[in-house]
Amino acid sequence: MKYVDEFRDPALARQLLHRIKQRSQRPIRLMEFCGGHTHAIMRYGLRSLLPPTVDLRSGPGCPVCVTANADLDRAIALARVPGLILTTFGDMVRVPGSRESLQDAKAGGADVRLVYSTLDALKIARENLDRPVVFLGVGFETTAPTVAAAILQAQAEGLDNFSVLSLHKLTPPATRAILDSGEIALHGIIGPGHVTTIIGAGAWAFLPEEYNLPVAVAGFEPLDILRAVADLVDMIEAGSPAVSNSYARSVSRQGNPTAMEVMDRAFQTGAAEWRGLGAVPASGLSIRPELVRFDAAHLYRVDPGPTKEHKGCRCGDVLRGTVTPPECPLFGKACTPIRPIGPCMVSAEGACAAYYQFGQEE
Ligand code: SF4
Repeated sequence: MKYVDEFRDPALARQLLHRIKQRSQRPIRLMEFCGGHTHAIMRYGLRSLLPPTVDLRSGPGCPVCVTANADLDRAIALARVPGLILTTFGDMVRVPGSRESLQDAKAGGADVRLVYSTLDALKIARENLDRPVVFLGVGFETTAPTVAAAILQAQAEGLDNFSVLSLHKLTPPATRAILDSGEIALHGIIGPGHVTTIIGAGAWAFLPEEYNLPVAVAGFEPLDILRAVADLVDMIEAGSPAVSNSYARSVSRQGNPTAMEVMDRAFQTGAAEWRGLGAVPASGLSIRPELVRFDAAHLYRVDPGPTKEHKGCRCGDVLRGTVTPPECPLFGKACTPIRPIGPCMVSAEGACAAYYQFGQEE
């Protein structure tokens, strides 16, 4: 465990906190895009260790949370197609849609199966050649390449009973949408580590160039995040925004061209609906027309019924960073991880779940 310990060293953490306290002169608000960062920040109590000048807000970086209710309802309606097997990662199953969750649909007889990877979904398709098998594709640039590879694999094998309902989303356009809305004043962005491993740190250059905002790409250990905050404070105080990469052990400037190429072979970009952000141009990945026989959105016309939002749930506001989870009146009362009302309390990357699990700090 020596390697991990190096990124949790209390002495180094104290040094970084000292540097942040010395340098941070004026109040700033930083957004950690990624839900994984929110969980690490809450788990290690970093919010309370930072000086009062530094406010951290969580962002839309939880793929399960940003999946719009209408899309979730469509997936649930799909699961109810007779004979169809819907495969999905675990987090999606408990998210309440307008009327029910995938878990409820499963309890009602739908064949919903949890998988740990797209390889499992392909295996289920091979074992059930007489039944349609749909994989629910939810995730950012981190997950999309593996789903793209599964589509290409199904094509190579002629596995025509396999298809994907692609709800994949891209992170830079969502960041733009938040900044363009002008709804929240931000002074810097903690860039998502895993996503940036794929898209490369260079993909965030638009933040300093077009928005005059610094970005620090971070890993998920406490020292990674403190280093990113220290870099952001330095850049803000110096008035010289740039892209800093405090996750160099995983992230390069150009990213992973192989993964990007695979993604590009299976998907094309288009507008996507985000919970909290609405329709965001060029932020979604749909399956290319030449692979339409693997596109569940085209293969199955289902009627999910009217979409309803969860009354009182402020998940959309949490995802835009305009409120923190404890500001939701339902937080920890009507809404808990056992009885979640919105996806932000369900997902392992959800901000409400992180605040509930590790303390509110508000
Ligand atoms: Fe929604 Fe629950 Fe979070 Fe409130 S605490 S915003 S109801 S998920």
